[in-house]
Amino acid sequence: MTSELATFLRDRYAEDKRRAEGSRKVRNDISGRPCPRCGEPVDGWGSPLDSGVVRITHGGYLDGCDLTEEEWAPFGDDGITDEGAHALADVEMKLSLVGLCEPPLVETTGPKDTERQFMPGEGAPWGLPVLQRLASLYADHPDYRAEWRL
Ligand SMILES: [Zn+2]
Repeated sequence: MTSELATFLRDRYAEDKRRAEGSRKVRNDISGRPCPRCGEPVDGWGSPLDSGVVRITHGGYLDGCDLTEEEWAPFGDDGITDEGAHALADVEMKLSLVGLCEPPLVETTGPKDTERQFMPGEGAPWGLPVLQRLASLYADHPDYRAEWRL
């Protein structure tokens, strides 16, 4: 159960990481230029949505225009946003927690085995409850299992 839970969390964190890495700033020299969709001046950054679409905002309002990658490209890339950098650090910290909670693999290779074999050993007693708490944030995900509930 612990290793399935750890795999579930690593998958969610990989998604979070992709989202965070896609949180890019618009180049400063382009900020204020007209939006290719509506013509309003563009704010200083864009937020990645799923499937390669970037939302840009105008005048600080969150509901801006969703640009295709082609429309987004001329605005350039001025690096990851502060929020994206913070989200990346958060994901890395959570991945390290998963690593601490997951039971270590123990070699079970027998004398006649032709390949090395491993199985999960005994982990820390608090490993599973910690992973369950981390996974509770993703309880609405379709891969989340009812048996992981606290
Ligand atoms: Zn627009």
